[in-house]
Amino acid sequence: MQDWTDEYDVVVVGSGGGALTGAYTAATQGLRTVVLEKTDLFGGTSSYSGASIWLPGTQVQERAGLPDSTELARTYLRSLLGDVDADRQDAYVETAPEVVALLEQDPNIEFEFRAFPDYYRAEGRLDTGRSINPLDLDPADIGELAEKVRPELDQDRTGQGHAPGPMIGGRALIGRLLAALAGTGNADLRTGTALTSLVVEDGRVVGVEAVRDGETLRIKADRGVLMAAGGIEGNAQARTDNGTPGKAEWSMGPIGANTGDAIAAGVAAGGATALLDQAWFCPGVEQPDGTAAFLVGIRGGIVVDANGERYLNESLPYDQFGRAMHAHNATNPTSWMIFDSREGGGLPGISIPNTAPAKHLEAGTWVQADTLEELALKAGLPTDALRASVEQFNDYAKHGVDDAFRRGEDPYDNFFCPPNGNPNNALTAIETGPFHAARIVLSDLGCKGGLVTDVDGRVLREDGTAIDGLYAAGNTSASLSQKVYPGPGVPLGTAMVFSYRAARHMV
Ligand code: FAD
Repeated sequence: MQDWTDEYDVVVVGSGGGALTGAYTAATQGLRTVVLEKTDLFGGTSSYSGASIWLPGTQVQERAGLPDSTELARTYLRSLLGDVDADRQDAYVETAPEVVALLEQDPNIEFEFRAFPDYYRAEGRLDTGRSINPLDLDPADIGELAEKVRPELDQDRTGQGHAPGPMIGGRALIGRLLAALAGTGNADLRTGTALTSLVVEDGRVVGVEAVRDGETLRIKADRGVLMAAGGIEGNAQARTDNGTPGKAEWSMGPIGANTGDAIAAGVAAGGATALLDQAWFCPGVEQPDGTAAFLVGIRGGIVVDANGERYLNESLPYDQFGRAMHAHNATNPTSWMIFDSREGGGLPGISIPNTAPAKHLEAGTWVQADTLEELALKAGLPTDALRASVEQFNDYAKHGVDDAFRRGEDPYDNFFCPPNGNPNNALTAIETGPFHAARIVLSDLGCKGGLVTDVDGRVLREDGTAIDGLYAAGNTSASLSQKVYPGPGVPLGTAMVFSYRAARHMV
């Protein structure tokens, strides 16, 4: 006999795009649902995101006249991932249209296609990309709920609260999902409530223990518990234990939020784990306070190692960039981005947050000098090597061909580079002093290892049997994409599909 404080059909832990999609699916199917969010705000990393969502072959791509289909998307995933987890790959692409159809039935939710190329040259790729985005949202349309959505990353990290104007990207996604969920009249939304453990009876998960304001709650879940509460990205000890490259303070998740609580609870209930040393990697611009900024893409400059030498195509999609950094930096820990003053001393790229150059220069995370020789000395780089790297690159820029790393030859490489009159838009000579060097570290958008799950998000034991009543999605589960980031929006797309399937399974 359990002493329950509350009783629901479905308990959803976390409040990112996956969690809220699962909660909405359950609530619209008549299941009494509660969402438990540890922090005081809904949305987690999903709120920070650009909300590109890789949900292929849906009515949204059809509306946009895009030559996309479930089959083409399946071909693309297979060509990147092979047959490993083929059943989950299939479930992903086959269920995406259903998820979008359900969500768009709600008056609060609408998506549109926005071009963002798939990340790999592989069969089934669309050079325009195929990911969809929620429409921007006027905060007034969702009333008080808008105040409960985690602000944009830079606003949140600097404690500025909500930016004025429309909610865009991940904030629009979370705002829309919250409004839709509230509209079902079948769900309770609780912030400040952290899962601490799962309640297991006769091998079945029957509820959760959670803490709110120091009080322990025991919440019954008659149909099941869906955990979509992020990964281990913010847990320094767990990263060390699992050999996850990068650092907790360089990860882009909300600080202190995603510490792997749900994964630990799932393991205690008998769940198996995989891929815990993996993340959705990206380069990060080291920040004056020791955190990092997500370097989404660049328009200019080069990246060099501690020897002053280039070692990669700097226009690679960010996960491949991060992996190249890690592979190279095993013996060579520091990278620097070298750029000139074409953009008034600002970084020629998209950095979130985008801290003022003066603050970087004051903190020493950037150095600046009138000549490359002086810059090398300030950054502790070999003078001759840095000059040679820049001269070589400038020569490539002049001819429009990067003989060393083929930068600018893939459609993705040019995505962040507006036409600039150069033979190759992705190659712009570094020649307008003063010159700058910015320290670049290995960051991530969250970890992608976690509980092993099946096609319905059910958590599996080491022996492959499912733990009844327990489901995981998003970064709480081990990603079907393994060590690959196939295209923009796969983290959110997979989180939403497997949360939806988990809720359907509970129904
Ligand atoms: P989250 O969205 O982080 O949600 C987890 C939630 O669980 C958090 O709110 C957390 O507080 C809560 N939680 C943690 N522990 C507990 C507990 N014990 N009890 C209760 N609640 C708990 N991905 C894309 O697909 N497309 C993009 O365009 C994209 N852009 C990005 C841009 C930026 C700047 C960043 C930083 C990331 C981006 N990503 C993008 C990555 C993506 O946002 C994340 O991988 C994804 O949102 C993770 O979803 P999640 O549900 O696993 O975790």
